[in-house]
Amino acid sequence: MRKSKKILSLFLVLMILFSLAGCQSTEPASEELTDVEPLEDSLYAAGSYTGKGQGMNGEIEVEVTVTENEITDVKVLAHNETPGVGDIALTDIPANIVKHQSLGMDAIAGATYSSKGVLEAVANALVQANADVEALKAKVIKSEKGTSVTTEKEVDVVVVGAGGAGLAAAVSAHQNGASVIVLEKMPKPGGNTIISGAAYNCVDPKRQEASGIEDSIELHFQQTYEGGDEVGNPELIKILVENAYPTLEWLEGLGMEFTDYVFTVLGGLWPRAHRPVMPLGTGYITTFMNYIENNSSDMEVMLNTEATNIIMEEGRAVGVRAEGPEGPVIVKANKGVVIASGGFSKNTEMLNEYNKAWPDLSNTLSTNHPGATGDAIKMAVEVGANLVGMEHIQLLPLGDPDTGSLAGNIEQAVENRIFVNKDGNRFVDEGARRDVMTQALFEQEDDFLWIILDSQNYPTGDVKNNFNESIDELVAAGRAFKADTLEDLADQIGVNADNLVAAVEKFNEHVESGQPDEFGRTLYQWRMDTPPYYAGARKPTVHHTMGGIEINTETQVLDTSGNIIPGLYAAGEVTGGIHGTNRLGGNALADINTFGRIAGRNAATEK
Ligand code: ADP
Repeated sequence: MRKSKKILSLFLVLMILFSLAGCQSTEPASEELTDVEPLEDSLYAAGSYTGKGQGMNGEIEVEVTVTENEITDVKVLAHNETPGVGDIALTDIPANIVKHQSLGMDAIAGATYSSKGVLEAVANALVQANADVEALKAKVIKSEKGTSVTTEKEVDVVVVGAGGAGLAAAVSAHQNGASVIVLEKMPKPGGNTIISGAAYNCVDPKRQEASGIEDSIELHFQQTYEGGDEVGNPELIKILVENAYPTLEWLEGLGMEFTDYVFTVLGGLWPRAHRPVMPLGTGYITTFMNYIENNSSDMEVMLNTEATNIIMEEGRAVGVRAEGPEGPVIVKANKGVVIASGGFSKNTEMLNEYNKAWPDLSNTLSTNHPGATGDAIKMAVEVGANLVGMEHIQLLPLGDPDTGSLAGNIEQAVENRIFVNKDGNRFVDEGARRDVMTQALFEQEDDFLWIILDSQNYPTGDVKNNFNESIDELVAAGRAFKADTLEDLADQIGVNADNLVAAVEKFNEHVESGQPDEFGRTLYQWRMDTPPYYAGARKPTVHHTMGGIEINTETQVLDTSGNIIPGLYAAGEVTGGIHGTNRLGGNALADINTFGRIAGRNAATEK
């Protein structure tokens, strides 16, 4: 073989040099080197060469640039490979050839023909550069840790996103017999779910009845549908409201605990919200992660691994390509792919692209975690998915003025607090839909409100909000204000005292009469008359993106002609069409768990 001959001759030259250096130190070594034919020892004739190979859909043409000893560049000049399939090979194979100076790598799963086409084209180009192609093919590159060679795995179901919907799908797929890999781009699981208020809406025959609360599946349906301006898909809403309680029982069966207390969450319109025992959304994520740990022989969550493409073969989703901490990752899915990557509230570009209802959102903060950037929406579009309702973006009126987070929120119950503006005047029904409250807030000075409530919400200073912050801590930190009189409170927060006192007096009249007030408020419980009084500042914050990938009632992803994309499922905030223009508070957790569970089951059973 030509290359081994070269290596041998180089070895001999070196031997001679060493022996000369050792024995005849008077002779300069460089003189000996001039006797070696330089071309004999170079691997390539330097230059750029083009070559062609047969891909999946036709010829692939590449240009390969070499120096005497190195392949420095491989460019694909022309191809006809399928987006989302072939383009994987068109980037990875060239990168690996240059990195490893080899043609001895396996084809990429799901892009076999395109991979072989690129390798063939590069080999044909290198032949012209006098390369020993057989030797390059014999240099076998294996996928292993620490290299940037593509890591390949194969399971039944692959899930994109380890938030609530993705983990629910993973657990449900496993319960239905599937091996599962979850890809998560962040260093930890949880997504927005783990930092959410975590309230879960469902009509509950046990807890609501025990508290004397009347409710029905029909009312939950009607409020969800009408609360979204009748824009949501009634079939999906029906699945949501009918399955929310069985899914809550499923969660309990997995070990998750909810309190017995049912309440009205902000913008929830009715007391049907369930509160997990663990703070925020940690209960959901802990429950799912425990299950996954207990079944680690055929379940895995790959962190720091960002999905970049859905792999399609003959129109079917067969896997996911991702970027992991050690290089490219391909997970082949024998049964199904579930997209559960959440919304795009942290992607200002996408928000501005789709926003129609709100003022410019470039400077509006968000409650979301940094991973809520909507990348997988683009991935789904690349393989033909249809998007619905992208312009429906939910803002909350209760963001922290500095961070946008819901932390520091002093409200305890919708019924027992009012909002006032910088003048100390009320301006909206505080039990209204989230969009209605936030629209009204944008019309106030500096888009700014104060929550006002009394100590019936905080019988002691140790009582905590659902961010585990006690009211005493918030006051001590200057994030909330406390006073024995409304006048003093007004003074501390710089609003007109007469206005604030009048607002509370009028509110109390309506608590007693139970009649709707001038803003249409109907939710009341106690008079606000028990000092100390508290105030907390809030601003609008981007919270939830209602639009996204279109699915059917089986969570199958639909294309732009309304056809099912085989093998592809989606669940959670990444989907659209459920909540219409406005999502009710407390419906998100019900949505992501209900549809995540359905998606996992269906992906596992290969619908
Ligand atoms: P949902 O409530 O719908 O479950 P979450 O925000 O809780 O949404 O979870 C979505 C998860 O998906 C987040 O943890 C987020 O980091 C992850 N994610 C988003 N894009 C990608 C991606 N391209 N690859 C892998 N994970 C992703």
